[in-house]
Amino acid sequence: MAFGTVNGAVLAALRSAMDQGDLLTHEDDLRHYGHDETEDLVHPPEVVVRPRSTEEVSRIVKVCAQHNIPITPIGGRTGLSGGALSIHGGVGLALDRMDRIEHIDERNLQVTVQPGVITQVLMDTVAEKGLYYAPDPSSKGSCTIGGNLAENAGGPRAVKYGVTRDFVLNLEVVLANGEVIWTGASTLKNATGYDLTRLVVGSEGTLGIITKAVLRLIPLPKASRLMLVPFNSPERACEAVSAVFQAGITPSALEFMERDAIDFTLQHVEGINLQIPDAVQAHLLIEVDGQHEDVLMRECETILGVMEAHECGEVLFAETSAEKDALWKLRRNVAVAVKAHTVYKEEDTVVPRYALPRLLAGVKAIGQAHGFRSICYGHAGDGNLHINIIKEGLSDDYWKNGLPNAIREIFELTVSLGGTLSGEHGIGLVQRPYMDIAFDQNQLGLMRGIKTLFDPQGILNPGKVLP
Ligand SMILES: Cc1cc2nc3c(=O)[nH]c(=O)nc-3n(C[C@H](O)[C@H](O)[C@H](O)COP(=O)(O)OP(=O)(O)OC[C@H]3O[C@@H](n4cnc5c(N)ncnc54)[C@H](O)[C@@H]3O)c2cc1C
Repeated sequence: MAFGTVNGAVLAALRSAMDQGDLLTHEDDLRHYGHDETEDLVHPPEVVVRPRSTEEVSRIVKVCAQHNIPITPIGGRTGLSGGALSIHGGVGLALDRMDRIEHIDERNLQVTVQPGVITQVLMDTVAEKGLYYAPDPSSKGSCTIGGNLAENAGGPRAVKYGVTRDFVLNLEVVLANGEVIWTGASTLKNATGYDLTRLVVGSEGTLGIITKAVLRLIPLPKASRLMLVPFNSPERACEAVSAVFQAGITPSALEFMERDAIDFTLQHVEGINLQIPDAVQAHLLIEVDGQHEDVLMRECETILGVMEAHECGEVLFAETSAEKDALWKLRRNVAVAVKAHTVYKEEDTVVPRYALPRLLAGVKAIGQAHGFRSICYGHAGDGNLHINIIKEGLSDDYWKNGLPNAIREIFELTVSLGGTLSGEHGIGLVQRPYMDIAFDQNQLGLMRGIKTLFDPQGILNPGKVLP
């Protein structure tokens, strides 16, 4: 792939493409926008542009198309698959200045937002009106709606409410030639032609730049109950997960954490007071929510019965909102805590939830055979297990040349169990070499065809997703 470079003429054209947005070329700025949360990877763009409007994005893309310059869309840079890294240099298109919540439509339960809105800000803003935007990645305090859309982000509440894609009605997208389209209609139902909206969601910035989104809202649940359930056996904890649903309950969150995940987090995060008996090897964090306390109490009783049947230890109920916050802080900080401890590689495997115990046991067996330690946790209710392979004392040579074989084995196991490579973090840069495990040549050929149709020059986030 021979791309143009960002020379003086390109810089001048980019400057004149913007009325209010800014353009950054200082080395520190390029480095800042050149990394996300994926391992310790850094790939700076040659220039960062920070537009403020769709019109500016359109003009920037036209300049890039004319000069054959690669464009990497950049959101909150919390990605875990390297999607926002400018691996071919070019333009880093930071959407952080496009952060307006444009309209909350309370009659239709819809909200129109720009892509740079921080997810937590959107959730808090609509909550003030008694409304709920449910997709809640654990990074919600720093990730953006644009990044969530591009990755089809999930989060703890996806198990009951669905992932980002389930909350999208319509998208404004700047195409690779700079033209602006809407992908569909802002209606709850739509059976009109191919579904471009669902195609763009999860396309990781490789098909177009999302500049506006119309999102669905639901009424805010009035009450919730949260419990932390210890187990001496991680496999028994995983077995209890599908039994909850078989008992007729759909929790609003059902999270799994191995002992190591909690220990790392307790060391890293202050203000959580939790004594864990030595024998405990895993926890489930289970939340139910809804409009009526009495219904939630009955659901908790049913869940308790299921947990006891799977030999759980003493269940801790969060009685106050401070206790709830502390337990959620524990869960949401696992990734950050592991990263603070050591370099790690994160795999975002997902299987049908009944296969979760077999996935966990298989991952541990692969780790033992290859000599690495993994810390497993994740959205167990969705069958979504995050596997953090930690570097600790492993040699650089093994990390670079040996570990990919073990990761391949993990993905082969995942696919053999009916699962796939990524539940919510996307393929990006780092999972790209494994796509052949999930798809055959026919499927990959169709995807390549779609990419070429949307982006004939291949300038949109090149080097991502497709092998
Ligand atoms: C501590 C931690 C916890 C996490 N927990 C979760 C979780 O629970 N669930 C989950 O799903 N993920 C989780 N993640 C991963 C990450 O937060 C998500 O993938 C998130 O959606 C990325 O959003 P972002 O704004 O940071 O995007 P970035 O990382 O900046 O970009 C991600 C991708 O989106 C593209 N992109 C960004 N904006 C646009 C746009 N406007 N148009 C087109 N493409 C665009 C980029 O090119 C890139 O390919 C977690 C990450 C961390 C660090």
